[in-house]
Amino acid sequence: MVKPKTEEEIELLRENALIVSKTLAEVGKRVAPGVTTLELNRVADEFIRDNGAIPSFLGYDGFPAALCMSVNDVVVHGFPSDYVLKEGDIVSVDCGTLYKGYNGDSAYTFPVGEVDAETRKLLDVTKASLYKGIEAAVAGNRTGDIGYAVQTYVESFGFSVVRELEGHGLGREMHEEPGVPNYGRRGKGTHLVEGMVICIEPMINAGGRGVYLARNGWAVHTSDHRKSAHYELTVVVRKGRAEQLSTYDFIEKDGTINF
Ligand code: MG
Ligand code: MG
Repeated sequence: MVKPKTEEEIELLRENALIVSKTLAEVGKRVAPGVTTLELNRVADEFIRDNGAIPSFLGYDGFPAALCMSVNDVVVHGFPSDYVLKEGDIVSVDCGTLYKGYNGDSAYTFPVGEVDAETRKLLDVTKASLYKGIEAAVAGNRTGDIGYAVQTYVESFGFSVVRELEGHGLGREMHEEPGVPNYGRRGKGTHLVEGMVICIEPMINAGGRGVYLARNGWAVHTSDHRKSAHYELTVVVRKGRAEQLSTYDFIEKDGTINF
């Protein structure tokens, strides 16, 4: 049985979610052809610390950076590097914070300049599948209802769900119970209870669902080397409708960040 969070804990998770949401927007403003992923990582690291938080990915199991930066066929867990982003690339940015003893964790896949129509569709469908998952994250449902919602939506467009990785509970630890797979069957899995805080994070491939782990032991690549997208938001399970803690509003609403 997964213990729900208290409202006090949820407020601390909300503060983290806000910092993460704003960090992703700060990074997004700078995503452009000619920029390296290492430069973007520096922006995030500085922004997180300026807000009094710690980049929680840095040093996590030895991860070397504040952000996971996963370009094109990298699904997740890519290292920032001196790779120079070019027109038509996509870059999945995953960001984590530790603040007041609690965690933030959200991700967004940015297009670099103009991307082709198929890639644009992959981004749109992956993000929409996340919102389908959020719609299913209500008290009385189970984790399988979330997975089912994501999977059926994604597969109706001919894209595929990565199954080796999944969403998770969030709290004092970055990865808590329950696991939240992006595929599954309705009515199966962990019962969702009001006050549970979970990260839903579809990782969706343009081609087949097969993936492999790079020799560095971190970066997960698509086996067919086609592109993969990743969006992640943190929500509180509530009755009737989940409450979003992190948001893409800072990225998508008129491009300005207000504090
Ligand atoms: Mg994440
Ligand atoms: Mg996560």
